[in-house]
Amino acid sequence: MRLGQKNLEKNSPNKPNGTKANALLCPACCVEYVEVEFDMEVGSVVLHNVKALRCPECSEELFTPQQYETIRKRISGLTEP
Ligand SMILES: [Zn+2]
Repeated sequence: MRLGQKNLEKNSPNKPNGTKANALLCPACCVEYVEVEFDMEVGSVVLHNVKALRCPECSEELFTPQQYETIRKRISGLTEP
């Protein structure tokens, strides 16, 4: 199983639903961000396996709106009884 295979299809105009891998490019390095998982400390709690995108070149990290929303929900689930 090759991980890069999915990315090869993203430019295909015949696949309207093939936009799952909405590859983002680091503006500084012009390379694709890769998805990473890590533990994120938020105040007094720690969220495990938080997903984010990281540039393999400069290690810049960002969240997609979906990832950010997931984190927001997890935080509110932790802080609200
Ligand atoms: Zn970069």
